[in-house]
Amino acid sequence: MSGAPPTPSPSQAPVGVDPTRPSIARIYDGFLGGKDHYEVDRAVMRKISEAVPEAVDIAKGNRGFLNRACRFLAAQSKIEQYLDCGSGLPTAENTHQIVQRSNPDARVIYMDNDPVVLAHGRALLEENENVHMAEADIFNPPAVLQHEIVRKHLDFTEPMVLLHVGTLHHFEGDGGPAVMQEYIDALAPGSYVVFSHFYDPQVPELTALAKKIENILVHGPMGAGRFRTEDEILAMLPGLDIVKPNATTEPGLVVCDEWWPDGPRLTPISTAGHCIAGIVARKP
Ligand code: SAM
Repeated sequence: MSGAPPTPSPSQAPVGVDPTRPSIARIYDGFLGGKDHYEVDRAVMRKISEAVPEAVDIAKGNRGFLNRACRFLAAQSKIEQYLDCGSGLPTAENTHQIVQRSNPDARVIYMDNDPVVLAHGRALLEENENVHMAEADIFNPPAVLQHEIVRKHLDFTEPMVLLHVGTLHHFEGDGGPAVMQEYIDALAPGSYVVFSHFYDPQVPELTALAKKIENILVHGPMGAGRFRTEDEILAMLPGLDIVKPNATTEPGLVVCDEWWPDGPRLTPISTAGHCIAGIVARKP
């Protein structure tokens, strides 16, 4: 073993229902139109919106990608098990609702460490025996992969869909690739990873926008929220075959709104919408 263990990311400390500490889940849900936020969350939301009025498009782009990726995999893969890490507060359309529409027997495990998410999730899922909410630090892969609920309901010898959507940007430092490697190693061949991340497209105007939001998140009470480059994001998905992201783009990273959109765009993607990127990839 070499040296001291890495300093944990701020989002690894359980939030608690502490009205003096903002929550990633409540702020993100607030941008999606949810109502479960406190003044401390609204203060961060206001700061972000004042700096970047279109910031809401990052949350919407991310959630739209998650929904379309789930719909695609549920309809076109035969996979019946889903592990949704950092699932967030229940909102209009959640992973289990989308995938169980195609296959009512699909099993979904949601993981989060925010007590508001856990409470809402458990209440919503009470009557669905194929869906479970569990608590773990998603940046500590063994805690998720060995979790008793995961081991009871998911079969790691069969392909599954692993979702890490809008999560790793809340992980500070350069340990993201190692975290994802542990997850990917645990998956059976034929499994899929659905992944999205705050994106710095390295275009001056967009980098400036990304930095404005990053500064508020990293140097504010949240303590985490990194916009990473294409190379930094792709390094978190080693050894996977990336699914073609739309009809005209070769397999690679794309802005979430460009990942198999529901139809042709009638309005252009906003500047902020270019700062969240997504990937669906298969383990060979
Ligand atoms: N995946 C959902 C989506 O894309 O719509 C929600 C994304 S939300 C931006 C990030 C979620 O990750 C929040 O619900 C937050 O509580 C959770 N999260 C952040 N750090 C975590 C950690 N260390 N362990 C477990 N969950 C965490």
